[in-house]
Amino acid sequence: MYESTRGNFSTKSAAEVIALGMVPQGGLFVPTALPKARWQDYQNSTYSQLAAALMNLFLTDIPSADIEKAVKVYEDGRFSSANPVPLVGLADCSVLELWHGPTAAFKDMALQVLPYLLSSSIKTLGTEQEVIILTATSGDTGKAALEGFKDVPGTRIIVFYPEGGVSPVQERQMLTTKAQNTTVVAVKGNFDQCQNAVKDIFSSEQLRNELLEHKMVFSSANSINWGRLLPQIVYYFWAYIQAFKQGKIKENEKLNIVVPTGNFGNILAAYYAREMGLPIANLICASNDNKVLADFFQTGIYDSNRPFYLTSSPSMDILISSNFERYLYEASGRNGKKVRQWYEQLASSGRFEVDREVLTACRDGMWAGWCDQQAVKSTIKKVYADSSYLLDSHTAVAMKVYQDYREKTGDPAFTVIVSTASPFKFAQSVLEALTEKSFSGKAGEAVERLKDTTGWEIPDCLENLFEKAIREKILCSPEEINGLITNDLLKKKFL
Ligand SMILES: *Cc1c(COP(=O)(O)O)cnc(C)c1O
Repeated sequence: MYESTRGNFSTKSAAEVIALGMVPQGGLFVPTALPKARWQDYQNSTYSQLAAALMNLFLTDIPSADIEKAVKVYEDGRFSSANPVPLVGLADCSVLELWHGPTAAFKDMALQVLPYLLSSSIKTLGTEQEVIILTATSGDTGKAALEGFKDVPGTRIIVFYPEGGVSPVQERQMLTTKAQNTTVVAVKGNFDQCQNAVKDIFSSEQLRNELLEHKMVFSSANSINWGRLLPQIVYYFWAYIQAFKQGKIKENEKLNIVVPTGNFGNILAAYYAREMGLPIANLICASNDNKVLADFFQTGIYDSNRPFYLTSSPSMDILISSNFERYLYEASGRNGKKVRQWYEQLASSGRFEVDREVLTACRDGMWAGWCDQQAVKSTIKKVYADSSYLLDSHTAVAMKVYQDYREKTGDPAFTVIVSTASPFKFAQSVLEALTEKSFSGKAGEAVERLKDTTGWEIPDCLENLFEKAIREKILCSPEEINGLITNDLLKKKFL
């Protein structure tokens, strides 16, 4: 069963929380207790088998047969490598490549599976409603969600992204999606404004009722949905098993994990894996210039009132890390009342401060750091020079923060750097880092140039992206989003 982080909702089953996405009046669903799992039991499993086993532990009211079907996505050819998540060894750490899915970023790991879980949940609940997926994206979620949900019967997906706040490749990927049930909206604002507008729609009782009259129901493909987080736990077990099999660690030796962080979903999945019993020592939370989390771990103050930077790692340009609420819930000893107060303060004043005790609990097994864009560039260049390995601009943040961590702590433990995107997805930034020159050609040319410079292969999904036909884009302000739903979706059936 699942409960709300704000103590404001009755406990719900897995199917219910996946269908709902988030607690309607604010708050996120978390499992009432975490099941234990032994990595040794899955040493000889395929990725799909491991995923099914772990997901079955959590999704107790979803038929196992549906879960079996869902996890087939990892072996039916959508992932470009036979091992969907390779662990690649470098000189003093290993890189977990989460970007072999259909959109070349780690969001595929969960968003390929979520539509199946959602369809099954709706079926399990016996409701015959069309599911309207609303998703705010800082770039990668959008395309991954569009790919996951495209032409899935009974679903319709609307993606909102900040105009000018995503990379040319990301925008192009979204606008070239071919499907009957997808809509892409560019919002004149930043990611947090997109995300807040979407959250407001979710918590509007009036809109929900209007939708019900049309036999529709909202759900979310953002990482606030439990169905997004759960598939992410799987690859941490997979990473551990591979590290063991490769002889990087001894049986049950603890390793560290470094995660380039935005909405705190990916690293939270690692935290849950550790709570389930996976031998993880420290989790290292890496931020870019938008270092609201790094500052929080220093001071205990979460303060979103600060300049917002557009960086070369746009998927981490976030000041309100939604999933951090789930972490605070655990760190506060599951104190829903406190969490509610903090998030009410965040909504009204843009900041909150936790007490000493909670901060200490937050820091237990978690280290946070950040790095600026210059360091991202030099890290990409140096790692390529030393190891012939190409980091994308998000993974480079993680690598640099790991180097800082090692310097400051001297911790020699084996460490896994989580790689969240193919370098080709952020080709211009990567190319500029390698050549130390700014690149003024077209975005499509940067992809080709990066291939020529390094000999690395372009992922299929990015090949010829800029020659594909694009659809007209809908542009609106954050204030207009609500009207877009009520008028265009419900009345005119236009979206
Ligand atoms: C989404 C994303 C992140 C941030 O992940 P969170 O789960 O939001 O912390 C990092 N890198 C890339 C490439 C992403 O797409």
